[in-house]
Amino acid sequence: MNKLERDYSGDYVIISPHRKKRPIEGEKKICHFCPENEKETGKSTQELKNEKGEWLIRSVKNKYSLALENEVHEVIIETRKHKLFRDFDETEIKQCYDFYQERIKQLKEKYEYLYLFKNEGPTAGASLKHAHSQIISFPKKIIKKNETAINGDTLKDNKETQTIIPTNTKHSYEIIIKCKRENSEIANLTEEEKTEISSELKKIIGKVNYDYNILHHDHPYHAHVIFRKNVWAGIELGLHIYVKETTINELRGIFK
Ligand SMILES: [Zn+2]
Ligand SMILES: [Zn+2]
Repeated sequence: MNKLERDYSGDYVIISPHRKKRPIEGEKKICHFCPENEKETGKSTQELKNEKGEWLIRSVKNKYSLALENEVHEVIIETRKHKLFRDFDETEIKQCYDFYQERIKQLKEKYEYLYLFKNEGPTAGASLKHAHSQIISFPKKIIKKNETAINGDTLKDNKETQTIIPTNTKHSYEIIIKCKRENSEIANLTEEEKTEISSELKKIIGKVNYDYNILHHDHPYHAHVIFRKNVWAGIELGLHIYVKETTINELRGIFK
């Protein structure tokens, strides 16, 4: 079982030695997320199927779970093809949103705080090259609210959503796609919102080739897309002072 501790700065730390055993692409020939290898991941907790009855998207319990006692950690395998999320088209991304929404609605009945996120590429923390996201729950009391107002430069103003370049971020390459509706959350996104978000997300992740994370936050719903070009080094780790190597104008040029 994973254990929760606090470090010398007050941050929470999950002690999870079994994480070391996670499969790394290349080490073994088989991909655990591909069809025919379902036994490696176990029974689906939810599935979206095609007309042939084959799964298109499925969620499973994370074998290398970071969940604390009585909490949940699932992996959503987002395609039956061995490919990355950045190669999805808008329709496939929208289908993922439908799936996230359904799964989160289910889990919400039982868990207090659910967090959906995606790691893609080794420097973003993904060990397999097969598109997937993760949902993990935590007791609400340990969640630190570390975001106040996000200031931003609007890159695209749509009917229901806005794509912004945050001006007060520590990340060199971050874009935020945000719903205009104040009480929006994954569980209540409308069809129109999901369609706009999917189309913007497709555009943004196609602009650069860096590994990236997508962090989903609610109220209002927004997705942080953080590209992992630079590593945090001595200044960042020792002083919590962050080096940002881009200007807003540069980012505007890249992501327009
Ligand atoms: Zn695969
Ligand atoms: Zn946020």
